[in-house]
Amino acid sequence: MEKTYNHQKYEEDVYKLWEKSGAFTPKKDPKKKPYTIVLPPPNASGKMHTGNVLMIAIEDILIRWKRMQGYSALWIPGTDHAGFETQITFERRLKEQGKSRFDFDRATLYKKIWVFVQENKHLIEDQIRSMGASVDWTRNKFTLDPDVLETVVNTFKKMFEDRLVYRADYMVNYCPTCGTTFADLEVNHKERKDPLYYMKYGPFVLATVRPETKFGDTAVAVHPNDKRYKKYIGKEIEVDGLLGKFKLKVIADKFVDPEFGTGVVKVTPAHDKNDYEAGKRHHLEVKPVIGLDGKLNQKAGRFAGLTINEARKKVVEDLKKKGLLEKIDENYVHTVAVCYKGGHDIEPTILPNWFVKVGPLKEPAHEVVKKGKVKIYPKWQEVKYHRWMESMNDWPISRQVVWGIRIPAWYSTSENLNLQITFLNKDKVTKSGNLADLLKEYSLDEIRGGLQTLIAPADAKFSISDKNPGKDYLQETDTFDTWFSSGQWPLVTLGYPNSSDFKYFYPADVLETAWEILRLWVSRMIMFGLYLTGKPPFKDVYLHGIVRAMDGRKMSKSLGNVINPEEYQEEFGTDALRMGLISGTANGHDFNFPRDKVIAYRNFANKIWNIARFINLMFEKYSEETGINVPFLPDKKNKTQKLLKKEDKQILDDLNETTKKVDNSLEKYRFADAAEAIYHFMWDRLASDYLEKTKNREDKEISLSVLRHVYFNSLKLLHPFMPFITEVIWQELKDLRKRPDQLLISTPWPVINSKD
Ligand SMILES: [Zn+2]
Repeated sequence: MEKTYNHQKYEEDVYKLWEKSGAFTPKKDPKKKPYTIVLPPPNASGKMHTGNVLMIAIEDILIRWKRMQGYSALWIPGTDHAGFETQITFERRLKEQGKSRFDFDRATLYKKIWVFVQENKHLIEDQIRSMGASVDWTRNKFTLDPDVLETVVNTFKKMFEDRLVYRADYMVNYCPTCGTTFADLEVNHKERKDPLYYMKYGPFVLATVRPETKFGDTAVAVHPNDKRYKKYIGKEIEVDGLLGKFKLKVIADKFVDPEFGTGVVKVTPAHDKNDYEAGKRHHLEVKPVIGLDGKLNQKAGRFAGLTINEARKKVVEDLKKKGLLEKIDENYVHTVAVCYKGGHDIEPTILPNWFVKVGPLKEPAHEVVKKGKVKIYPKWQEVKYHRWMESMNDWPISRQVVWGIRIPAWYSTSENLNLQITFLNKDKVTKSGNLADLLKEYSLDEIRGGLQTLIAPADAKFSISDKNPGKDYLQETDTFDTWFSSGQWPLVTLGYPNSSDFKYFYPADVLETAWEILRLWVSRMIMFGLYLTGKPPFKDVYLHGIVRAMDGRKMSKSLGNVINPEEYQEEFGTDALRMGLISGTANGHDFNFPRDKVIAYRNFANKIWNIARFINLMFEKYSEETGINVPFLPDKKNKTQKLLKKEDKQILDDLNETTKKVDNSLEKYRFADAAEAIYHFMWDRLASDYLEKTKNREDKEISLSVLRHVYFNSLKLLHPFMPFITEVIWQELKDLRKRPDQLLISTPWPVINSKD
């Protein structure tokens, strides 16, 4: 054996050795019990981060432990297309080239992102390998694989038939100039000075920067504790507006800032996010007065057809004329939302969106956790699940991005001439408008070929189908929320509904992930699993903590405190990184990246390497001197047993205790406890104590036989945590073993009380 352990020399080869041996691919043996984990698929938007690496370490520990215990242990790897997040990352790249998504039709954009994602996928897969993950690559999955698409589309069809999906209004960030919606992350906020108008409004005076939306007001609101307006709360007021008299309700809601203006605000649920939320709380009518073309609609009477800015001027003029404008504050500074593309004002707009009705799905999903059919570890995280299940509302599942699974809804163009379309014509010029107008100038084929987005009105006629139902159809351009497909991950990875894998391995044993996505992901998987199979998709959920930067803050590129796990793998070895992270994670709490611990475990790796060298030398020396083979424990003739000294019995007992401790801790997902138990046993008991004593023993035959037994079993216990070095040593010492050709990954786990 070499003097020191050089991880860089061994890790890659050892991984290949495992993979080639077939150890990662379990057999569906009816005599064995299955043990299944599906890897939460890392996002194919970029490389893995420290949290992913912790996840890999934890799951690999579980799967190696169970594999050694004799289970048919399956761990399925994969990657997530991560719709919106990936598209944003890709668009940043486009920006560097002076381009944006608006330069491409959706089919071209999709292909470009596909290529980008393939690169990331390979990087991620290499990282998973480098971490030593004993995943079954023959079952590798991607959330855009054809069989995944088929399942996801079928689920949607089934839900539609079961009346669990519907279209309804949803507030989005719409830019009338760009003719498209923007995600929250794509909206910039900037400070700007705008006039603040104080207008008379029935018995009140109220302040607003947007008098032109008054035609869409469906209430006025005050703060519930505002004494000035107490007597009006719940009453109706009569307002003499620019289009005649009308009545409005006065509501009390804490969202009103009594310090702003006069403490009274008009509520326009169709054109303001806060008002929209307030509208939902108070069941207010939603009355849109601005169209997708950025002009006021028929509800604005004689103001219809004016752009937002034109309408504002005209409304202010008319308010002045009628004596309804009390004053104008010309120096009002406020924050406005603008689109990232052109800096245009965002118009919060109600658009039809696809929703999942969650009521019937969440009831059973809540039940299984309440009844303990799905257990959440650590237990204190469970309350988050209950709270979420109690408060979960219907789930908006459409996203206005190209990168994803397109919703399988089709609009007949002859029946839906009012579709709002944006496309690139054959000269690559953006055209926007309603279908009827566009068809006067362009053929449907040209529109379809250059299609970017379509917006179908709430009453549009559609059919749900996995393929084009006819010549004159256009498919919905919205894609599924990425959690809609990843919510079916345990099903699609295991070949739901008919595969033999599904029959043998479903449900999975444990779902291990970051607590951050309990709501977004774990709850959805439970809902889908129960809905489609009647069984929860896994028995246990283990939620790990978040790895923070060393300064205790969240890692972020802008703070410059992001830790690159690969640097640690290179410098200290993958085993040390894994162990360091594992010992940092005390029962699922968040923790700072434990650099000191990584270094300590690099030292530990050196320690166990040195023990191996020492044992190797002792055995060589002994056989040279005596020509006798050291007997194996347990000795069937029971000869050795009788000759054991007190210290031998003690170390054998301690090994038993340690095995118990590791097993019990892993059963409870207490990884740090398990790791520390084996660490202390090997360092304090075996190396510092027992090994020292053997140096002076006269009865070398006995002490060496105990030493070998204890050391090999320690390697087994340590293997799930530090797989590389333990396997390397196992191979280095193969001449001391009964079965030299055996790989450590495939050996049986130590049995408590056995002395083999
Ligand atoms: Zn814009």
